[in-house]
Amino acid sequence: MTRRIAIRGDLLDFTGEPALADVAGGDARFRPDHWLLAEDGRIVGVQPEAPGEDWERHDHAGRLVLPGFVDTHVHSGQLDVIGAWGSALLDWLERHTFPAELRMADPAHAAMVSAMFLDALLATGTTAASVFPTVHPVSVDALFEAAEARGMRVIAGKVLMDRHAPEALRDDVVNAEAQSRELIERWHGRGRCAYAVTPRFAPTSTDAQLAMAGRLLASRPGLYMQTHVAENRDEVRWVHELWPDARSYLEVYARHGLLGERSILAHGIWLDEEDRAALHAAGAHVAHCPSSNLFLGSGLFDWAAAEAAGVAVSLGCDVGGGTGLSMLRTMADAYKVQAMAGRRITAWKCLHAATLGAARALRLEGEIGSFALGTLADVAVWDWAVGPVATRRHAVAHDLHDRLFAWMTMADERNLAATFVAGHCRYART
Ligand SMILES: [Zn+2]
Repeated sequence: MTRRIAIRGDLLDFTGEPALADVAGGDARFRPDHWLLAEDGRIVGVQPEAPGEDWERHDHAGRLVLPGFVDTHVHSGQLDVIGAWGSALLDWLERHTFPAELRMADPAHAAMVSAMFLDALLATGTTAASVFPTVHPVSVDALFEAAEARGMRVIAGKVLMDRHAPEALRDDVVNAEAQSRELIERWHGRGRCAYAVTPRFAPTSTDAQLAMAGRLLASRPGLYMQTHVAENRDEVRWVHELWPDARSYLEVYARHGLLGERSILAHGIWLDEEDRAALHAAGAHVAHCPSSNLFLGSGLFDWAAAEAAGVAVSLGCDVGGGTGLSMLRTMADAYKVQAMAGRRITAWKCLHAATLGAARALRLEGEIGSFALGTLADVAVWDWAVGPVATRRHAVAHDLHDRLFAWMTMADERNLAATFVAGHCRYART
């Protein structure tokens, strides 16, 4: 029997990409007080009238209904180091992150953490994510198993690290390749799971391992590649020491065949014009992680330069460098990072990057990111305002952008009423 659900509220999604500072937001589609209809998890219609009795109705009149957020860069094994004081990137990895990632070798711990991690994403309105587990295959199995149980779109892969890490977190080329191939066989294309070849970052892989990663990426269509690039200046200096012949940090990945249209490069703060041209030519994109960049003091991402070069930009919370899993906080921080450079980006731009923009960058716009017919009903339902101050602010909002921007700035998890994944309610505020 067909499962029919209908969700009522103020529907907002995108049909195109807004420019950074275009407040008019011509590509935003706002349909106040409409019903979103889904059959067997797929969106089949949007209409102002209530559907018939044979639809399971979720009446959220007066609430904001958005596509679920897509977080393109986050670490499932780093919940234990959120808010770890006092470090920049390289020291932070040594002191806080590697010890936490070591614990993911234990299957029971990996299962517990993965379930907590995905439930926490759902409780902040995120329904799809590109995730770094750890070097341990069991951490990948645990994450995909938890994703499958929740029906979530998750992209992930075993982290590759064969040097410059504690011994228990290092693999080697032969074993890493065998483990990766096994995981690809098991998970890539199964339900909503997709595999990403995942070298942590250039300094923790030898050339031989990066070359193996390039071969893996080319071995099957639809595989993703995710890594970090040019996050922090000490890191960039280190890469230049390790590869004195490389023109740039990014070029180390390019020479090993790691830049393609399913490549996700986190951070990309310290890139130059030539790098951005290379990203554009490859169809690769940048996962901008403003909360993490501010917290670790890594630098201010130049979104305008990326846009001018035609490089797509999505958003990642980058927990544990980021300070929480909320894409609301991530969007608000993205605005502030650009404000530091004298730019004012719109709520449209931020929201697009967290929904349809990310979906397009991941080549998944046929499945997620909007309310387009045929896509899956990954949906988050939000209160516009919680508490007297936000309620007052909304009452005086002078147009939709003002209202949305105030929501983006002031809202948090308390505003989330419900999260649906492929038409199933997976989180409901109690
Ligand atoms: Zn990261």
